[in-house]
Amino acid sequence: MVMPIDLSLHQDGPAAPEVYREAAVPADAAVPLPYALHAVVPGDTLWDIARRYGTSLRWLVLSNPDVAPHPDLIRPGQQLLVPLGDGLVHRLAPGETVEQVAAAYGLDAAAVLAHPLNRGGLLPFAHGILFVPSPRSVDDRQPSAPWHRDRVLGAVPADDGLPRGTPLIGPITSLFGEMAPELRSGPHTGIDIAAPAGTPVVATASGAVALVAYDDGGYGLYVVIDHAGRYSTLYAHLGQAAVRPGQRVERGQVIGRVGTSGRSTGPHLHYEVRLAGRPIDPLLTPREGGP
Ligand SMILES: [Zn+2]
Repeated sequence: MVMPIDLSLHQDGPAAPEVYREAAVPADAAVPLPYALHAVVPGDTLWDIARRYGTSLRWLVLSNPDVAPHPDLIRPGQQLLVPLGDGLVHRLAPGETVEQVAAAYGLDAAAVLAHPLNRGGLLPFAHGILFVPSPRSVDDRQPSAPWHRDRVLGAVPADDGLPRGTPLIGPITSLFGEMAPELRSGPHTGIDIAAPAGTPVVATASGAVALVAYDDGGYGLYVVIDHAGRYSTLYAHLGQAAVRPGQRVERGQVIGRVGTSGRSTGPHLHYEVRLAGRPIDPLLTPREGGP
């Protein structure tokens, strides 16, 4: 079911986004996704990124096969899959099976699927991303060049104003489009990222703050930022906002802090990306005119 949405949040008066229903995510029952999405910023190195997320350089490189041949050539704005466990994450190609992937890494498919980060094999396939725990046969896949301390090469690109990455680092506890049938709600209009209350929330692109508002029955305290290319982003359940309507913000600027305001079961950020007012999957890479 696709529920079109007009950006009623931009209108005056109390915001009542009709299609928005927060999925119930009990804090103690939330199972994190096996990966985070990291948008490379100038000065990043794979070494630093791996350390920041508590993974190893090897798992990071192996999770991004397009990076592995030239891991010193990561570029600002590039998005990396970062495994959040002792292992790598693998994006299944069309037609590729779990059995094939497991065999390639010298593992048993049932054991791979049984790993808690694969949620019993159910959720990863929403994005076709599988967690491969501690694969044994990876040595021949390691890049040979010395790369682990290299800095990002290339000039800093002009900020294209398109949302990239996520507004904070943390386990994603609910994906875009997920249903919560017990709530009789529509599909989830964003992603939920669990984080302690007070964690800084940053803008994922430069833009202008369109709205800072409070919606007790849904978003709680939330911020909407307008970006280039008819994109906007929304940051909900904040504990506090650090920006004002009309204010110009840059990518990476702190715009608020995590809270649990509104219809929320615990501290987390509900993050939306909208194109021309319609929610799109924040984990897709946006391009001018559409994802
Ligand atoms: Zn949410």
